Amino acid sequence: MTERPLPHPSPLTRPFWEGAARRELWMQRCHACGHRVFYPRHLCPVCGGDQLPWERMSGGGTVFTYTVARKPTHPAFAGREPYVIAVVELDEGPKLTTNIVGIPPEDVSIGLRVRAAFEDVGDVTLVQFEPEAT
Ligand SMILES: [Zn+2]
Repeated sequence: MTERPLPHPSPLTRPFWEGAARRELWMQRCHACGHRVFYPRHLCPVCGGDQLPWERMSGGGTVFTYTVARKPTHPAFAGREPYVIAVVELDEGPKLTTNIVGIPPEDVSIGLRVRAAFEDVGDVTLVQFEPEAT
């Protein structure tokens, strides 16, 4: 069986992964212009500012767009299909590519309210999203 590909936290991205391990979603925000920055960077993509402190996100968002993978997109994902690959727009604005879990793919729709869900895999915690409890 092919091993599941996993992220490798770096000094730059470590606060994101450490937050995920605590079941929290953290992202950078530019001190100079206020732009929320994701993925983690050394410089603000809007103004070039180099002070990008981390702040905690609410974890809530909506499905911005998605697709259903009916064939594995990597050999290690064989047997998981069908699964949902989505872009989630956080309530604070940043968008991230992720999976939607805990719901049949046919029930996912654009605009669906979701909340961050966390899965420990080896030494890292993956950030996925599940339907918001109603
Ligand atoms: Zn900026």
